[in-house]
Amino acid sequence: MNKHENDDEKSQSEVNIAESALGSIGVPEVSIARHFEDMSRKEYGRNVCVCGHPMSVHSKGETQFLCIASRLGCPCMNPTPVLEVGDKRLFLFKSEGFGLKHALVKGMYKSKLNNSMTRFIGEQTCFKCRTVKENLIPAGLDLNYKVVFWPAPYNGLFCISCLEELFGRPVSDFLW
Ligand SMILES: [Zn+2]
Ligand SMILES: [Zn+2]
Ligand SMILES: [Zn+2]
Repeated sequence: MNKHENDDEKSQSEVNIAESALGSIGVPEVSIARHFEDMSRKEYGRNVCVCGHPMSVHSKGETQFLCIASRLGCPCMNPTPVLEVGDKRLFLFKSEGFGLKHALVKGMYKSKLNNSMTRFIGEQTCFKCRTVKENLIPAGLDLNYKVVFWPAPYNGLFCISCLEELFGRPVSDFLW
């Protein structure tokens, strides 16, 4: 019984030593804090933007956001994380339209082929009418909010009626 009490005392004092040791170790606490920030940024890197590319390849430029993806010709100006993924390297496709031609859909398909996890972050909400709906369709829009068939500055997930409004005509012939 006495032995157990001693053990408790010992572990209690070890906690106290550990707390003070951080202050007297030769590593500035601010550096440790930065390291933890970097680690959480790597977590952030597991998120994919609605443009279909990893959030981690976006950077804030002088006047606008830049997606790597300049290599892929992606002028993404509204970086918005929509997916959590198992392997962000599978999300490096070029958008050539909406639906199955959008980079986000291609990355999700490639992930499925590679048995790599993809999961929507939060509820799926139409970027235009803001309604929570299932089966939204990724599309790219130009600066006038018209649907385009090339990498677009604005990307979103849209319900079919909003997409047809943006497109100006039925989309069914183009989707599948
Ligand atoms: Zn992009
Ligand atoms: Zn983006
Ligand atoms: Zn809508």
